[in-house]
Amino acid sequence: MTLDAEQKRSLIGAMAASVIDNAEELTALDRAVGDGDHGLNMKRGFEAVLADIDNLAAKPLPELCKGVGTHLVMTIGGASGPLYGTLFLAFGKALPAEPLPGDTGKAFAAAVAAVKARGKSDVGEKTMLDVLQPVATVLTAAGEGAAAASLAADLRAAADRGLEATRALRATKGRASFLGERSIGHLDPGARSSQLLVHAACGVLDRLATGSGGQNP
Ligand code: ADP
Ligand code: MG
Repeated sequence: MTLDAEQKRSLIGAMAASVIDNAEELTALDRAVGDGDHGLNMKRGFEAVLADIDNLAAKPLPELCKGVGTHLVMTIGGASGPLYGTLFLAFGKALPAEPLPGDTGKAFAAAVAAVKARGKSDVGEKTMLDVLQPVATVLTAAGEGAAAASLAADLRAAADRGLEATRALRATKGRASFLGERSIGHLDPGARSSQLLVHAACGVLDRLATGSGGQNP
């Protein structure tokens, strides 16, 4: 799928709005298991992305993703800044200029692998990876021919399940790991921000697939 500049604006705008509009909830989640700055961190990062939206939307998709990653790594801070920065930078690096159906899944899987390497972390540690990895798995399977009309719904469902799974997990990475057993019973803030971003991206892709184009909602 190739996106025109207006469609790219919609995608960037929706993803930014999803975290900015829910910054207070992200901060509340981080107050329970961390230091209460995740919402503020994400808001700062995506406000920087929005401030550059005209420039970003004019770029080919790989450059756009790398541009988003650069803003995030420079502005979010904390543990999540370098990790979200890595996700977008590595995705942009792995994505061809004109992605074919299988390319997006492969590139996203490479980006998630880069986050794992950067965070020295994996699924099951109560982090953003508990959402990102299952989403990568669905996207990769879709690229290998299992593509369904329900792809966006499948991606959302994978993100929702991954987020909910973090509740029962004990954190072994990041600040939440300091709580040990007491981290159990809380959702992971980074998993929630990842799930919000997946929902936002899927919402825009759904509208494009149904032909309602790149118009702002
Ligand atoms: P900080 O923990 O420095 O305050 P944030 O509050 O912005 O940073 O982000 C916390 C989130 O970052 C966690 O909820 C978790 O999802 C994610 N995170 C932290 N450490 C790691 C790691 N090593 N690997 C993957 N994700 C991590
Ligand atoms: Mg924090």
